[in-house]
Amino acid sequence: MVAEKSTETGQRVPLLRVRNLSKRYVQGRWFSRSKFQVTALDDVSLAVYSRSTVALVGESGSGKSTLARCVARLSKPDSGEIWFEDKDLLGLSSAELFAARRQIQLIFQNSAAAMNPRFSAAEVVGEPLCIQERASKQKRRKQALAMMEQVGIPPEWADRSPLEFSGGQRQRLVIARALILRPKLLILDEALSGLDLPIQAQIANLLVNLQASFSLTYLYISHDLRMAGYLADEIAVMQRGKIVESGSVGEVFSHPKHPHTRVLIASIPGWEGASLS
Ligand code: ADP
Ligand code: MG
Repeated sequence: MVAEKSTETGQRVPLLRVRNLSKRYVQGRWFSRSKFQVTALDDVSLAVYSRSTVALVGESGSGKSTLARCVARLSKPDSGEIWFEDKDLLGLSSAELFAARRQIQLIFQNSAAAMNPRFSAAEVVGEPLCIQERASKQKRRKQALAMMEQVGIPPEWADRSPLEFSGGQRQRLVIARALILRPKLLILDEALSGLDLPIQAQIANLLVNLQASFSLTYLYISHDLRMAGYLADEIAVMQRGKIVESGSVGEVFSHPKHPHTRVLIASIPGWEGASLS
């Protein structure tokens, strides 16, 4: 589990606490009628403190997205607990879950692809207000424009189709849409993957600024350790459904304990034990 640290009030209560989470999937092979089980999460525990960034890293198939989907309550674990503030997310009624959902937003690599192409940029950003708050069209537009400004999209682009936006601009729109309900926790699942490196760096800097402006907590998920090292305070390394190592970014990068962590660090392009700062 990620090491505990004190909050401003001196309390040691994480915003998110995942305890002993396990999930298996049953898979089939196309050439066979037999089924087999895949353990996507194997007794995973993790704590994420308010206003901090925890990076969850690991190679493809290690279970990162499964954990993200369980925390966002898009998928149900087989066993374990997920605590958000003082609520047990797995024990909520549907009304409570509806309320909790606005506090936790999930962005993934293809989030932009899920935007309604018939909507304008401002409508895409304001849509969650329609679903969660039934806000008037005018109010939605006003809030959407304000949020677009926060993520660096000029207001004169508000009526364009998101299809006219570049990949980086589209990801800014996705972030604005995720923030419009003022969540506390943003889960970024490979949210920067697929963008060119300079664009990744711009969006990473935007995330840092937004974290300060909106007191956000990030669970930053990636197979790429480089950006994780830049953005995160704490890092948790996953392998085959387990967290095999966790700690502060400085500790894990300078003294990796688990062989898998060493392999991941060694695979960072240009990494020769260089310092992160
Ligand atoms: P990661 O995000 O780290 O790449 P995932 O959480 O997507 O890992 O996947 C973990 C394991 O669970 C993989 O072996 C994957 O094939 C399997 N898996 C994920 N989602 C499903 C699903 N819906 N059905 C069956 N197997 C799945
Ligand atoms: Mg994934």
